[in-house]
Amino acid sequence: EWVEFNQFFNSIIERFEFSKSQNVHFKRLLPSADLFVEIDTDKMTQVIDNIISNALKYSPDGGDVRFGVTTSGTYIKVMISDDGMGIPQSNVNRIFDRFYRADRARSRAMGGTGLGLAIAKEMIIAHGGEIWAESEEGKGTTIFFTLPFEQQEEGEWD
Ligand code: ATP
Ligand code: MG
Repeated sequence: EWVEFNQFFNSIIERFEFSKSQNVHFKRLLPSADLFVEIDTDKMTQVIDNIISNALKYSPDGGDVRFGVTTSGTYIKVMISDDGMGIPQSNVNRIFDRFYRADRARSRAMGGTGLGLAIAKEMIIAHGGEIWAESEEGKGTTIFFTLPFEQQEEGEWD
C-alpha cells in the first residue's frame, strides 16, 4: 500500500499523544514535502508502536520524546529519541536480538518480552530498510530506521 509517510507517522504519534499517561512531551520535526512509501501499514504500525512504547517506558517524568524524518538520496530516515536511562554501550546492538533485555531486574519490572525490536528489525529489513540505535547511558536513546521512498506517488503522471 502506498502512503504518505509524514501523515502516516503523525497519526501514530497523535494516538500516543492522546493516550499516554506519562508526563512526557512530544516534539516533532517532520518535513512538509510528500514522501510516499510502499509499506505494509499494519506491520509498520507495529514497528513504530513498539519504538514509541519503549521510548515512553524508559522516559523520565517531564522528559521529551523527539520524532524526526529526513531524506537522504532515495531513503527516508526516521528518528525517535528519548531522554531515558539509555543502554550500556556494549549492548546497544543487542537490543535487536530476540529476547534480549538490558538490565534484567529493571526490565522485568517494566514488563515486556524482549521481542518488540527483533520483530521491528525483521519488518524493516523486509521493507528494504535498516534499523539501528545510538544510546548513552543516563542520557537517552535514539532509534533510527530507513525506508526507500518516492517523491512522487507511484503511477501518477506529471
Ligand atoms: P516487548 O517489546 O516485547 O514488550 P521489550 O520492550 O523489553 O519487550 P524490545 O522492545 O525488543 O523488548 O526492547 C529490548 C530491550 O532493549 C528492552 O528490554 C530494553 O532493555 C532495551 N530498550 C529498548 N528501547 C529502549 C529505550 N528507548 N531506552 C532504553 N532501553 C531500551
Ligand atoms: Mg518493546
